[in-house]
Amino acid sequence: MSSPFDVIVVGGGPAGSTAAYKLGLAGAKVLLIDKAAEFPREKPCGGGLSARLLERFPYVGDLFDAGEVSVNPVSRVHLESPDGTRVTYQQGDPILYLVRRWQFDEALFKRAASVCSVRLGTTIRKCEVKPTHVELETTEGEIITGPMVIGADSANSVIARHTGLRSEAAHKEYAVDMMEETDYSRLDVKDRDAIYLFLTLTETFGYGYIFPKTHHLNLGFGCKLDWYLKELRGKGAEHHAQWVETLKRQGDVTGETNRSGYKAFPIPVSGPLAKTYTDRVLLAGDAGGFVNAFTAEGIFYAMTSGALAADTALNAVRTQQYDERTLAAYEKAWRQEIGDELLHSVDIQHRLFNGSGRMDALVRKAKEDPELLHLIIGYSMGASTYEQLRNHMMRSTVPTWVWNKVKSAVGFAR
Ligand SMILES: Cc1cc2nc3c(=O)[nH]c(=O)nc-3n(C[C@H](O)[C@H](O)[C@H](O)COP(=O)(O)OP(=O)(O)OC[C@H]3O[C@@H](n4cnc5c(N)ncnc54)[C@H](O)[C@@H]3O)c2cc1C
Repeated sequence: MSSPFDVIVVGGGPAGSTAAYKLGLAGAKVLLIDKAAEFPREKPCGGGLSARLLERFPYVGDLFDAGEVSVNPVSRVHLESPDGTRVTYQQGDPILYLVRRWQFDEALFKRAASVCSVRLGTTIRKCEVKPTHVELETTEGEIITGPMVIGADSANSVIARHTGLRSEAAHKEYAVDMMEETDYSRLDVKDRDAIYLFLTLTETFGYGYIFPKTHHLNLGFGCKLDWYLKELRGKGAEHHAQWVETLKRQGDVTGETNRSGYKAFPIPVSGPLAKTYTDRVLLAGDAGGFVNAFTAEGIFYAMTSGALAADTALNAVRTQQYDERTLAAYEKAWRQEIGDELLHSVDIQHRLFNGSGRMDALVRKAKEDPELLHLIIGYSMGASTYEQLRNHMMRSTVPTWVWNKVKSAVGFAR
């Protein structure tokens, strides 16, 4: 079956735009499809970019320098545990770069559109893999074909479901994040140079955050989808407004919530799918479950998986081999670069969000132990590893003489 395209990318968010840009730059003929009628488009998100994202994708720094995306870099974190213990962490360099997603995504999308074909206002509702090609059906009934597809169509990915790569019920695997992004003239925060992280929920899995952007305050609240469906269905906006009132009472924010700006959106928080490729198909970003299950960071993983999917797709185009044996290289590549941290994040989520006691103990300890605090924040932002955090915690819970014996016995260097 002939097609004017080598690769079709469904979804023009960070995952899809990164993949399309890399493929287009390398000379592949790419069609990038998005259901949004235009860019910029809305995307509910905290818009927190970890510092390592700028190392992995240096052109993001260029977007900031050129003023194409306005950014508030913050180097301070206020961390609060369920029992209200609060600790503040400060470092020299920025920890997180705060952007507005509509602006950031538009900039990435524009770069991709400069090197590939795009179709906006096109929603894919069906994906069928045939022996010689992939067929994508739009909501208008049009069939679009190509040799292969990269599914970057977010948490409710049609590509993942229709190819059988995601089959679990959504309520088991997702969180819901409820947020608003409101002008400072209406809602303001005490410390605009810091992010606030609240590990405050006593029920299964949850967090709150305040992310100050350049001109807007973004604050949100996340919980597991099954808990949301049981406790908050139809009451999300009300719950959000109450939470803002709590933040006002404790002196963190001033002003009024903007109820019409309230939005909720799912996040996959159960780690990458068991398989992220099949014949003629690769999944990137939220579609493949590439979100840190502990911090809910997804943009870095969306762009990284998008870039790695592009590498594998490029090889498939060059060799004209689109079978799953060839595309398996993608899974090997992402496992090597981000696999361990994503798998560990699921483990940490299960341990820490399983009740407030562990979280309280951790934050209380971090208040007395600056190195532990440094490692917790570093781990949350992708700057230090799970092993470093775990080793420090092990060391700080056993007497030094026992630890020294263990170290010398296994030849472990600090
Ligand atoms: C409220 C909230 C706060 C968050 N805060 C942060 C944060 O601070 N930092 C961070 O790193 N991560 C955060 N995340 C996670 C982050 O938003 C996602 O992981 C990230 O957006 C994933 O990028 P993506 O490209 O995979 O998907 P998306 O950004 O969702 O883009 C998918 C694109 O696909 C299009 N699309 C979807 N379905 C179809 C279809 N059927 N046909 C055609 N097009 C389609 C959509 O229009 C969209 O443009 C947050 C998430 C939420 C919900």
